[in-house]
Amino acid sequence: MEVQSIQVEKNTAPKEKPMTDQLEFGRAFTDHMFVMDYSDELGWHNAKIQPYQPLSIDPSSMVFHYGQSVFEGLKAFRTESGEVQLFRPTKNFERMNKSNERLVIPEIDEEFVLQALIKLVEIDKDWVPGADGTSLYIRPFIIATEPFLGVAPSRNYKFIIILSPVGSYYKEGIDPVKIAVESKFVRAVKGGTGEAKTGGNYAAGLKGQEDVAKDGYSQVLWLDGVDRKYIEEVGSMNVFFKINGEVITPALNGSILPGVTRDSVLQLLQHWNIPVSERRVSMQELADAHADGTLEEAFGSGTAAVISPIGLLCWDGKDYHINNGETGELSKKIYDTITGIQYGKLEDPFNWNI
Ligand code: PMP
Repeated sequence: MEVQSIQVEKNTAPKEKPMTDQLEFGRAFTDHMFVMDYSDELGWHNAKIQPYQPLSIDPSSMVFHYGQSVFEGLKAFRTESGEVQLFRPTKNFERMNKSNERLVIPEIDEEFVLQALIKLVEIDKDWVPGADGTSLYIRPFIIATEPFLGVAPSRNYKFIIILSPVGSYYKEGIDPVKIAVESKFVRAVKGGTGEAKTGGNYAAGLKGQEDVAKDGYSQVLWLDGVDRKYIEEVGSMNVFFKINGEVITPALNGSILPGVTRDSVLQLLQHWNIPVSERRVSMQELADAHADGTLEEAFGSGTAAVISPIGLLCWDGKDYHINNGETGELSKKIYDTITGIQYGKLEDPFNWNI
Protein backbone atom coordinates (compact mmCIF):
# COMPACT_ATOMS: atom_id res chain seq x y z
CA MET A 1 0.00 0.00 0.00
CA GLU A 2 1.15 3.52 -0.76
CA VAL A 3 0.90 6.22 1.87
CA GLN A 4 -1.06 8.28 -0.71
CA SER A 5 -3.79 5.63 -0.51
CA ILE A 6 -4.61 6.62 3.08
CA GLN A 7 -7.98 8.38 3.09
CA VAL A 8 -8.17 11.32 5.45
CA GLU A 9 -11.37 12.45 7.11
CA LYS A 10 -10.70 15.52 9.23
CA ASN A 11 -12.40 16.00 12.56
CA THR A 12 -14.83 18.91 12.23
CA ALA A 13 -15.43 19.12 15.98
CA PRO A 14 -11.93 19.19 17.53
CA LYS A 15 -11.79 18.83 21.31
CA GLU A 16 -10.38 21.28 23.77
CA LYS A 17 -6.83 20.24 24.66
CA PRO A 18 -6.18 19.41 28.32
CA MET A 19 -3.96 21.70 30.39
CA THR A 20 -0.40 20.38 30.29
CA ASP A 21 -0.05 20.33 34.09
CA GLN A 22 -3.21 18.24 34.41
CA LEU A 23 -2.24 15.49 32.00
CA GLU A 24 -2.59 12.00 33.39
CA PHE A 25 -1.01 9.06 31.57
CA GLY A 26 -3.32 7.57 28.96
CA ARG A 27 -6.53 9.44 29.78
CA ALA A 28 -6.77 12.06 27.03
CA PHE A 29 -6.76 11.28 23.31
CA THR A 30 -6.19 13.44 20.26
CA ASP A 31 -8.71 14.31 17.52
CA HIS A 32 -7.71 11.61 15.02
CA MET A 33 -6.87 7.91 14.79
CA PHE A 34 -5.44 5.66 12.10
CA VAL A 35 -7.37 2.50 11.23
CA MET A 36 -6.91 -0.28 8.69
CA ASP A 37 -8.57 -3.63 8.22
CA TYR A 38 -7.39 -7.11 7.36
CA SER A 39 -9.22 -9.91 5.66
CA ASP A 40 -7.83 -13.11 4.18
CA GLU A 41 -9.10 -12.04 0.74
CA LEU A 42 -7.81 -8.45 0.69
CA GLY A 43 -4.87 -8.50 3.09
CA TRP A 44 -4.38 -5.17 4.93
CA HIS A 45 -6.63 -2.61 3.26
CA ASN A 46 -8.96 0.32 3.86
CA ALA A 47 -6.28 2.48 5.51
CA LYS A 48 -7.69 5.72 6.83
CA ILE A 49 -7.19 8.56 9.26
CA GLN A 50 -10.50 9.55 10.78
CA PRO A 51 -11.90 11.41 13.77
CA TYR A 52 -11.14 9.62 17.09
CA GLN A 53 -14.28 7.61 17.82
CA PRO A 54 -15.63 4.42 19.43
CA LEU A 55 -15.49 1.20 17.43
CA SER A 56 -18.52 -0.81 16.53
CA ILE A 57 -17.56 -4.47 16.56
CA ASP A 58 -19.45 -7.69 17.05
CA PRO A 59 -19.58 -9.05 20.63
CA SER A 60 -18.42 -12.40 19.25
CA SER A 61 -15.21 -10.78 17.89
CA MET A 62 -12.46 -13.20 18.75
CA VAL A 63 -10.32 -10.66 20.62
CA PHE A 64 -12.90 -10.51 23.44
CA HIS A 65 -12.72 -14.24 24.05
CA TYR A 66 -9.24 -15.56 23.41
CA GLY A 67 -7.14 -12.43 23.61
CA GLN A 68 -5.60 -12.52 20.14
CA SER A 69 -4.11 -9.02 20.13
CA VAL A 70 -0.81 -7.17 20.15
CA PHE A 71 0.16 -3.61 20.98
CA GLU A 72 3.08 -1.20 21.03
CA GLY A 73 4.03 1.92 22.97
CA LEU A 74 6.32 4.71 21.81
CA LYS A 75 6.54 8.49 22.00
CA ALA A 76 6.85 11.69 19.99
CA PHE A 77 8.62 14.70 21.49
CA ARG A 78 8.52 18.43 20.80
CA THR A 79 12.00 19.91 20.55
CA GLU A 80 12.97 23.42 21.66
CA SER A 81 12.67 24.66 18.07
CA GLY A 82 9.08 23.42 18.00
CA GLU A 83 9.59 20.41 15.70
CA VAL A 84 8.09 17.05 16.56
CA GLN A 85 10.23 13.92 16.46
CA LEU A 86 9.59 10.22 16.99
CA PHE A 87 11.96 8.11 19.10
CA ARG A 88 13.06 4.88 17.34
CA PRO A 89 9.63 4.07 15.84
CA THR A 90 11.06 1.46 13.46
CA LYS A 91 12.07 -0.66 16.48
CA ASN A 92 8.45 -0.71 17.68
CA PHE A 93 7.01 -1.82 14.35
CA GLU A 94 9.74 -4.43 14.05
CA ARG A 95 8.79 -5.71 17.52
CA MET A 96 5.10 -5.61 16.61
CA ASN A 97 5.77 -7.99 13.73
CA LYS A 98 7.62 -10.33 16.10
CA SER A 99 4.60 -10.23 18.42
CA ASN A 100 2.32 -10.81 15.39
CA GLU A 101 4.23 -13.92 14.49
CA ARG A 102 3.81 -15.35 18.01
CA LEU A 103 0.09 -14.50 18.13
CA VAL A 104 -0.56 -15.75 14.55
CA ILE A 105 -1.56 -12.27 13.40
CA PRO A 106 -0.72 -11.30 9.80
CA GLU A 107 2.46 -9.32 9.26
CA ILE A 108 2.22 -5.54 8.80
CA ASP A 109 4.24 -3.54 6.27
CA GLU A 110 6.60 -1.75 8.68
CA GLU A 111 7.49 1.06 6.29
CA PHE A 112 3.83 1.71 5.43
CA VAL A 113 2.66 1.89 9.04
CA LEU A 114 5.58 4.18 9.89
CA GLN A 115 4.51 6.55 7.11
CA ALA A 116 0.91 6.31 8.33
CA LEU A 117 2.05 7.19 11.86
CA ILE A 118 4.08 10.15 10.60
CA LYS A 119 1.00 11.40 8.73
CA LEU A 120 -1.26 10.93 11.77
CA VAL A 121 1.15 12.77 14.09
CA GLU A 122 1.46 15.57 11.52
CA ILE A 123 -2.35 15.98 11.50
CA ASP A 124 -2.52 16.03 15.31
CA LYS A 125 0.79 17.84 15.87
CA ASP A 126 -0.82 20.62 17.90
CA TRP A 127 -1.56 17.94 20.50
CA VAL A 128 2.14 17.30 21.18
CA PRO A 129 2.74 19.18 24.43
CA GLY A 130 5.83 21.32 24.72
CA ALA A 131 6.44 21.66 28.48
CA ASP A 132 9.43 19.97 30.11
CA GLY A 133 9.09 16.20 30.37
CA THR A 134 5.83 16.01 28.40
CA SER A 135 5.32 13.99 25.22
CA LEU A 136 2.80 12.36 22.93
CA TYR A 137 2.34 8.69 23.77
CA ILE A 138 1.58 6.56 20.72
CA ARG A 139 -0.38 3.31 20.98
CA PRO A 140 -0.53 1.12 17.86
CA PHE A 141 -2.48 -2.11 18.37
CA ILE A 142 -4.10 -4.98 16.48
CA ILE A 143 -7.24 -6.87 17.48
CA ALA A 144 -8.86 -10.02 16.09
CA THR A 145 -12.31 -9.03 14.79
CA GLU A 146 -13.73 -12.16 13.20
CA PRO A 147 -17.16 -12.86 14.75
CA PHE A 148 -16.54 -16.51 15.73
CA LEU A 149 -16.26 -18.44 18.97
CA GLY A 150 -13.95 -21.18 17.71
CA VAL A 151 -10.44 -21.27 19.14
CA ALA A 152 -8.42 -20.54 16.00
CA PRO A 153 -6.56 -17.61 14.48
CA SER A 154 -9.01 -14.94 13.36
CA ARG A 155 -9.50 -14.23 9.66
CA ASN A 156 -10.16 -10.52 10.25
CA TYR A 157 -8.23 -7.86 12.15
CA LYS A 158 -8.12 -4.16 12.80
CA PHE A 159 -4.84 -2.25 13.14
CA ILE A 160 -5.33 1.04 14.96
CA ILE A 161 -3.10 3.87 16.17
CA ILE A 162 -4.30 6.25 18.86
CA LEU A 163 -2.37 9.15 20.38
CA SER A 164 -2.38 10.49 23.92
CA PRO A 165 -0.63 13.61 25.26
CA VAL A 166 1.15 12.73 28.50
CA GLY A 167 2.61 14.78 31.33
CA SER A 168 6.02 14.50 32.87
CA TYR A 169 6.66 11.12 34.54
CA TYR A 170 8.86 12.76 37.16
CA LYS A 171 7.16 15.88 38.48
CA GLU A 172 9.77 16.51 41.17
CA GLY A 173 12.90 14.97 39.74
CA ILE A 174 13.81 11.37 39.12
CA ASP A 175 12.73 9.39 42.11
CA PRO A 176 13.79 5.87 43.26
CA VAL A 177 11.03 3.34 43.90
CA LYS A 178 10.42 0.48 46.34
CA ILE A 179 10.09 -2.93 44.70
CA ALA A 180 8.94 -6.29 46.10
CA VAL A 181 10.45 -9.48 44.68
CA GLU A 182 7.51 -11.60 43.53
CA SER A 183 7.68 -15.12 44.89
CA LYS A 184 4.11 -16.34 44.34
CA PHE A 185 3.19 -15.35 40.78
CA VAL A 186 5.12 -15.31 37.52
CA ARG A 187 4.57 -13.04 34.54
CA ALA A 188 5.71 -15.35 31.77
CA VAL A 189 7.62 -18.53 31.03
CA LYS A 190 9.98 -19.53 28.27
CA GLY A 191 7.90 -20.90 25.43
CA GLY A 192 4.93 -18.75 26.48
CA THR A 193 4.21 -15.23 25.24
CA GLY A 194 6.46 -13.13 27.52
CA GLU A 195 8.62 -11.82 24.70
CA ALA A 196 5.56 -10.68 22.75
CA LYS A 197 3.68 -7.49 23.58
CA THR A 198 0.23 -8.95 24.04
CA GLY A 199 -2.52 -8.03 26.48
CA GLY A 200 -2.65 -11.38 28.28
CA ASN A 201 0.83 -10.88 29.74
CA TYR A 202 -0.36 -7.70 31.43
CA ALA A 203 -3.56 -9.29 32.70
CA ALA A 204 -1.40 -12.03 34.23
CA GLY A 205 0.70 -9.41 36.02
CA LEU A 206 -2.11 -7.45 37.67
CA LYS A 207 -2.59 -9.67 40.71
CA GLY A 208 1.05 -9.54 41.84
CA GLN A 209 1.12 -5.78 41.40
CA GLU A 210 -2.19 -5.35 43.26
CA ASP A 211 -0.98 -7.42 46.23
CA VAL A 212 2.28 -5.55 46.78
CA ALA A 213 0.75 -2.11 46.22
CA LYS A 214 -1.13 -2.60 49.51
CA ASP A 215 2.24 -2.72 51.30
CA GLY A 216 3.53 0.43 49.63
CA TYR A 217 5.64 -1.11 46.87
CA SER A 218 5.31 0.47 43.48
CA GLN A 219 6.00 -2.68 41.47
CA VAL A 220 7.18 -6.27 41.59
CA LEU A 221 10.44 -7.77 40.45
CA TRP A 222 9.55 -10.75 38.30
CA LEU A 223 11.58 -13.95 38.63
CA ASP A 224 11.74 -16.72 36.03
CA GLY A 225 8.81 -19.12 35.95
CA VAL A 226 10.81 -22.35 36.13
CA ASP A 227 13.51 -22.09 38.80
CA ARG A 228 12.03 -18.98 40.47
CA LYS A 229 15.60 -17.79 40.97
CA TYR A 230 16.60 -15.68 38.02
CA ILE A 231 15.60 -12.05 37.57
CA GLU A 232 13.52 -11.21 34.50
CA GLU A 233 11.86 -7.77 34.59
CA VAL A 234 10.58 -5.12 36.98
CA GLY A 235 6.86 -4.31 36.58
CA SER A 236 6.55 -3.54 32.90
CA MET A 237 10.15 -2.51 32.50
CA ASN A 238 13.44 -4.23 31.78
CA VAL A 239 15.94 -4.19 34.62
CA PHE A 240 19.63 -3.35 35.05
CA PHE A 241 22.08 -3.73 37.94
CA LYS A 242 25.48 -2.17 38.43
CA ILE A 243 27.69 -4.55 40.37
CA ASN A 244 31.33 -3.72 41.04
CA GLY A 245 31.57 -1.36 38.07
CA GLU A 246 29.87 -3.71 35.60
CA VAL A 247 26.33 -3.25 34.32
CA ILE A 248 24.28 -6.44 34.04
CA THR A 249 20.86 -7.00 32.51
CA PRO A 250 19.06 -10.33 32.18
CA ALA A 251 19.72 -11.88 28.75
CA LEU A 252 16.69 -12.14 26.46
CA ASN A 253 15.57 -15.69 27.05
CA GLY A 254 12.13 -15.93 25.47
CA SER A 255 10.13 -14.74 28.45
CA ILE A 256 11.51 -11.19 28.63
CA LEU A 257 10.16 -8.37 26.46
CA PRO A 258 13.00 -6.93 24.33
CA GLY A 259 12.59 -3.28 25.34
CA VAL A 260 13.53 -0.47 22.98
CA THR A 261 14.84 1.51 25.98
CA ARG A 262 16.83 -1.57 27.08
CA ASP A 263 18.48 -1.58 23.66
CA SER A 264 19.17 2.17 23.87
CA VAL A 265 20.76 1.76 27.33
CA LEU A 266 22.98 -1.07 26.05
CA GLN A 267 24.09 1.01 23.06
CA LEU A 268 24.89 3.99 25.29
CA LEU A 269 26.91 1.91 27.76
CA GLN A 270 28.93 0.38 24.92
CA HIS A 271 29.48 3.86 23.47
CA TRP A 272 30.82 5.00 26.85
CA ASN A 273 33.02 1.91 27.19
CA ILE A 274 31.32 0.89 30.40
CA PRO A 275 31.55 -2.89 30.94
CA VAL A 276 28.14 -4.40 30.31
CA SER A 277 26.82 -7.92 30.03
CA GLU A 278 23.54 -9.58 29.12
CA ARG A 279 23.38 -12.76 31.14
CA ARG A 280 21.42 -14.70 33.69
CA VAL A 281 21.41 -13.02 37.10
CA SER A 282 19.90 -14.61 40.18
CA MET A 283 18.34 -12.96 43.21
CA GLN A 284 20.95 -14.72 45.34
CA GLU A 285 23.78 -13.14 43.32
CA LEU A 286 22.17 -9.76 43.95
CA ALA A 287 21.82 -10.44 47.69
CA ASP A 288 25.48 -11.52 47.84
CA ALA A 289 26.58 -8.37 45.99
CA HIS A 290 24.51 -6.33 48.42
CA ALA A 291 26.15 -8.08 51.37
CA ASP A 292 29.69 -7.40 50.16
CA GLY A 293 28.88 -3.81 49.21
CA THR A 294 29.28 -4.21 45.43
CA LEU A 295 25.63 -3.71 44.42
CA GLU A 296 25.98 -0.10 43.35
CA GLU A 297 22.82 0.72 41.40
CA ALA A 298 19.62 -0.86 40.11
CA PHE A 299 17.10 0.59 37.68
CA GLY A 300 14.23 -0.26 35.36
CA SER A 301 14.07 0.91 31.74
CA GLY A 302 11.01 1.58 29.60
CA THR A 303 9.29 4.09 27.35
CA ALA A 304 7.11 5.61 30.08
CA ALA A 305 9.77 6.55 32.65
CA VAL A 306 12.93 6.02 30.54
CA ILE A 307 14.88 5.13 33.71
CA SER A 308 13.33 4.26 37.06
CA PRO A 309 15.93 3.83 39.83
CA ILE A 310 15.27 1.12 42.42
CA GLY A 311 15.97 2.38 45.94
CA LEU A 312 14.84 -0.70 47.83
CA LEU A 313 14.18 -4.35 47.08
CA CYS A 314 12.25 -6.54 49.49
CA TRP A 315 13.01 -10.27 49.09
CA ASP A 316 11.53 -12.91 51.40
CA GLY A 317 10.76 -10.30 54.04
CA LYS A 318 14.24 -8.78 54.03
CA ASP A 319 14.92 -5.23 52.81
CA TYR A 320 17.88 -4.50 50.56
CA HIS A 321 18.58 -0.78 50.32
CA ILE A 322 20.42 0.23 47.16
CA ASN A 323 22.64 3.33 46.98
CA ASN A 324 21.02 4.60 50.22
CA GLY A 325 17.71 4.83 48.38
CA GLU A 326 19.08 7.54 46.13
CA THR A 327 19.37 7.86 42.36
CA GLY A 328 22.72 6.48 41.22
CA GLU A 329 25.14 8.52 39.16
CA LEU A 330 25.00 6.20 36.17
CA SER A 331 21.18 5.94 36.27
CA LYS A 332 21.00 9.74 36.18
CA LYS A 333 23.54 10.02 33.37
CA ILE A 334 21.65 7.50 31.21
CA TYR A 335 18.35 9.27 31.94
CA ASP A 336 19.77 12.69 31.08
CA THR A 337 21.36 11.43 27.88
CA ILE A 338 18.34 9.56 26.50
CA THR A 339 15.89 12.35 27.36
CA GLY A 340 18.40 14.92 26.02
CA ILE A 341 18.41 13.09 22.67
CA GLN A 342 14.62 12.69 22.69
CA TYR A 343 14.04 16.43 23.17
CA GLY A 344 16.73 17.39 20.68
CA LYS A 345 18.89 19.02 23.37
CA LEU A 346 21.78 16.64 22.75
CA GLU A 347 23.28 15.28 19.55
CA ASP A 348 21.82 12.02 18.31
CA PRO A 349 24.89 9.96 17.38
CA PHE A 350 22.80 6.80 16.96
CA ASN A 351 20.16 8.32 14.63
CA TRP A 352 17.42 7.38 17.05
CA ASN A 353 15.12 10.28 16.14
CA ILE A 354 12.90 10.33 13.06
N1 PMP B 1 8.91 -5.06 29.63
C1 PMP B 1 7.59 -5.01 29.52
C2 PMP B 1 6.79 -6.17 30.00
C3 PMP B 1 6.96 -3.88 28.96
O1 PMP B 1 5.63 -3.81 28.86
C4 PMP B 1 7.75 -2.80 28.55
C5 PMP B 1 7.10 -1.55 28.00
N2 PMP B 1 6.85 -1.67 26.63
C6 PMP B 1 9.15 -2.90 28.66
C7 PMP B 1 9.69 -4.05 29.20
C8 PMP B 1 10.03 -1.81 28.19
O2 PMP B 1 9.99 -1.73 26.79
P1 PMP B 1 10.25 -0.37 26.04
O3 PMP B 1 11.61 0.08 26.47
O4 PMP B 1 10.20 -0.74 24.59
O5 PMP B 1 9.17 0.56 26.43
